[in-house]
Amino acid sequence: MKKHFKYLVTAALPYANSFIHIGHISGAYLPPDIFVRYKRLNDEDVIFISGSDEHGTAIEMASISEKVTPQEIIDRYHFANKKAFEDLGINFDIYSRTSNKIHHDTAQEFFLNIYNKNILVQKTEKQLFSEKENRFLADRFVTGTCPVCGYEEARGDECSNCGSNLSPLELINPRSKITGDIPVIKESTHYYFPLGDYQEKLEKWLDGKRGWKQNVMNYCKGWLKAGLRDRAISRDLDWGVKIPVEGNDGKVIYVWFEAPIGYISATKELFTERNEPDKWKDYWMNEDTKLIHFIGKDNIVFHSIIFPAMLMAHGDYILPDNVPANEFMNFEGEKQSKSKGTGVLVKDITAKFEPDVIRYTLASNMPENKDSEFVWKDLQVKNNSELAGILGNFINRTVVFTKNKFDNRVPEIISIPETEDGILAFLIRSLRN
Ligand SMILES: [Zn+2]
Repeated sequence: MKKHFKYLVTAALPYANSFIHIGHISGAYLPPDIFVRYKRLNDEDVIFISGSDEHGTAIEMASISEKVTPQEIIDRYHFANKKAFEDLGINFDIYSRTSNKIHHDTAQEFFLNIYNKNILVQKTEKQLFSEKENRFLADRFVTGTCPVCGYEEARGDECSNCGSNLSPLELINPRSKITGDIPVIKESTHYYFPLGDYQEKLEKWLDGKRGWKQNVMNYCKGWLKAGLRDRAISRDLDWGVKIPVEGNDGKVIYVWFEAPIGYISATKELFTERNEPDKWKDYWMNEDTKLIHFIGKDNIVFHSIIFPAMLMAHGDYILPDNVPANEFMNFEGEKQSKSKGTGVLVKDITAKFEPDVIRYTLASNMPENKDSEFVWKDLQVKNNSELAGILGNFINRTVVFTKNKFDNRVPEIISIPETEDGILAFLIRSLRN
């Protein structure tokens, strides 16, 4: 007998500090929505999970520069993005958020699980500390002169002038971005996840994968070849999931570690809402479930190397079955970028066009194997000649023929050839759904 799988489909958690654009949609949201619609049409057991990623320095920084609370920032983008997905007909079973209590609890449990197994490593490192603000300054909270090009407004993690990756300690004349205070160097102790310990297991696991996209596999192989290293999973910050071990005041779980656990918390929340609080285990702790992460290419390492290693370390959960990542969709010859103000926001395009027109245009030009490009002219052509001209004309002709040849009534079915029987059964199922 054919085995029946459950499908646990996730779409990348958008970061709640900007409005989503159509590049995001064609990368990580429309592909799973099409996949999930197909599974639902076939009466398969599928749940579709996403939500906002709401912690980290960028949100705390935005709240400081706008003089509002981080909660105000995340509320603004969470609800706007949730609506943008709905307006495009992308129907998650749940669109959760990592600021919810259930996520904080789940992420802390996850941390404690591997902490109690002595998997984590502690390291003490030098960091910039503002005595005026009485806190360590995370990378984005520091500005100074770039040691590579001399640009005076370089950020603690990168120089926007020459593109160099930096660490705050490399900056010349560093100062706090918030108060201008000149920081001192102090030691801080952090927890590290020993990713290198999982290298062999990951290689073996990936070797057994069939049907993965070549871009994803190549990317993974590149990372594995370079060798995996320990990664810090705590940082000195206020906004985030607190480290659940005593003596770590002012420290939170690094967002890269905590955010993917959001898929688990969101599933718990979904079934709590459905009054079946234990049913999430049927998905996350069941070898007959296929866990599929739809993402954009910038997220490959987190979903096909780091999160699987975390799941291996925890041990109670299934690993991803597939991680289909798309490339990027550019806009009229440029990258869609929030900081440069290029691209098309979903909230703007859905205000002007029907969701199916947008979905059709994006789906017919998806960046599956290489970057693709959105141009307005293309949307016009798809709408006018393909949807209105070809599909619209086909429907119109069918109706006109019915009127002229069958006296305005749908004729009775006399006999159906076998092939058409299958199509008919499929249509009936579609209508029912
Ligand atoms: Zn520079």
